[in-house]
Amino acid sequence: MTSERRWNGWGDASVEEALKPEALAFLATRIGTPAPRPDAPFAAALAQVEAQASRLPAHPLVDTRAETRLRASFGQSMHDWLRLRFGVLGRVTDGVAFPAHAGEVRTLLDWARGEGVQVLPSGGATSVAGHLTPVGERPVLTLNLGRMTRLLDLDPVSQLARFEAGVPGPDLEAQLRAHGYTLGHFPQSFELSTLGGWIVTRSSGQQSARYGRIEQMFAGGTLQTPDREWVLPTFPASAAGPDLREWVLGSEGRLGVLTEATVRVTRAPAAEEFVGVFFPDWPRALAAVRALGQAKLGLSMLRLANPAETFTTLTMAGHPQAIGWLERGLGLRGVGEGKCLLFAGFTGQSAAQVRAMRGAAARVWRAHGGVSTGAFLGRKWAARRFAGVYLRNSLWDAGYAVDTMETACDWPRVDAMVRGLESAGRTALAVHGERTHCYTHLSHVYAQGSSVYSTFVYRIGPDYDTALARWQALKAAVGDAIVAQGGTITHQHGIGKDHVRWLPAEKGATGMAAIAAMVRQFDPDGVMARGNLLGDAA
Ligand SMILES: Cc1cc2nc3c(=O)[nH]c(=O)nc-3n(C[C@H](O)[C@H](O)[C@H](O)COP(=O)(O)OP(=O)(O)OC[C@H]3O[C@@H](n4cnc5c(N)ncnc54)[C@H](O)[C@@H]3O)c2cc1C
Repeated sequence: MTSERRWNGWGDASVEEALKPEALAFLATRIGTPAPRPDAPFAAALAQVEAQASRLPAHPLVDTRAETRLRASFGQSMHDWLRLRFGVLGRVTDGVAFPAHAGEVRTLLDWARGEGVQVLPSGGATSVAGHLTPVGERPVLTLNLGRMTRLLDLDPVSQLARFEAGVPGPDLEAQLRAHGYTLGHFPQSFELSTLGGWIVTRSSGQQSARYGRIEQMFAGGTLQTPDREWVLPTFPASAAGPDLREWVLGSEGRLGVLTEATVRVTRAPAAEEFVGVFFPDWPRALAAVRALGQAKLGLSMLRLANPAETFTTLTMAGHPQAIGWLERGLGLRGVGEGKCLLFAGFTGQSAAQVRAMRGAAARVWRAHGGVSTGAFLGRKWAARRFAGVYLRNSLWDAGYAVDTMETACDWPRVDAMVRGLESAGRTALAVHGERTHCYTHLSHVYAQGSSVYSTFVYRIGPDYDTALARWQALKAAVGDAIVAQGGTITHQHGIGKDHVRWLPAEKGATGMAAIAAMVRQFDPDGVMARGNLLGDAA
């Protein structure tokens, strides 16, 4: 069976995640009942693209049909969704190429440079930061790497795998698993996002505590810059001046097209377990995950929900009787209102190794009042780890927008950051007479600090202008709060166009000038992924 991707939402069009009646009742109480509104039909969107004639000269590798352009012009940011769902598309790409190998990428870059065409590389188009919005005066060619998915070489001696950079998560893992290896990079967008996209946006997977962020996995690769090929060799470590891989990591398409990447892989684990642990309150839960992160026990995941997220998860799961039993059991052990749910991951090469890690971790969480519910909830989480994102579609259909903002900061700031983000989200929409339901989890825990990931659910609004104003107000307020609380503007989603205005706050004038100079060095004509990182649309 072939699957078609949703043109105006998340994922496989044949997959539906129905909202439980308890979830709808809960949201109606928290933020009100939205008025139903229809989405713009596909045919109307197509007509809008047809009305924007492509400005590209003809090229045998470039597809300028309206449907291809429509499907290639949007990522997954709320702004992308608003434009698609309300049928206010704005500018779309002028054409799309799907190169089959690095040679065709080179041909297309040379052609684009000669014709004064901008190039916007794309992978899985799962950006949630506006990376894929075409900007600037010149025609835009989207260069999609979706056909470049091969494992080119696996070196089991050094545990290095060389891939074409367009390979999406499931395909990459299947090719490695066939040889007994894993990359272990599992962002929630795993189903669609690609190796190249992960690298150039500095992505972080759910089990980064064991496998590292993509920065730790990226050993070297090949970048087709606008005028030449640039190869980064692999070394286990090097003291030879600045590490040039760092220039590619986070480059967001500005330096060229990453066509191949060599990544550090690991033997596929023989044993793995996820355990759900409840804490009586947020201060004790926070102290526990910090202690766990700093104890360096080798866990693969620590994911701690605050009381609001724990309550939301349990309520929206829609099993009131089972949850009632769980809560009565927890109550007998001193865990009641205000409880926080931690999922801890244990991954290893034997069941004994996993048991030993779990035993060591249990001593830490018990010392902080943690009560384990065993592997049952963990198994449920693992089974649905990539399915939950489909709820974004059904929540939208019910009239609710779901947006997320994320950051990372040192431990002394984490608690204030959580409160600051949720408070900013609530206040931002109160000005519009709307309520926001906010909740937060810590998704990646480090010895130094933690990532902080907040979700905001609110009513979309009756028309495009209202919906846009609500989203913009929320984004601005939460972005400002992140900077005010001393966090990075993004721990894993990148800058794109949506986060450009906050980048100078953390890089400073010298840092911004250095980034601009680096972009100019690789791309003197300014043809690559304009607008990303630097906001240089014009
Ligand atoms: C539901 C959902 C959940 C998500 N969960 C996570 C998560 O858990 N962790 C996380 O880190 N992120 C997450 N993201 C964000 C997103 O998936 C990541 O930013 C991802 O790394 C983007 O990869 P992509 O292949 O989709 O890139 P795209 O969205 O296609 O592109 C992103 C940027 O990378 C550039 N680019 C892509 N491929 C190349 C290439 N080969 N060469 C040069 N430039 C290139 C593009 O020009 C663009 O600027 C999530 C997104 C969604 C929608």
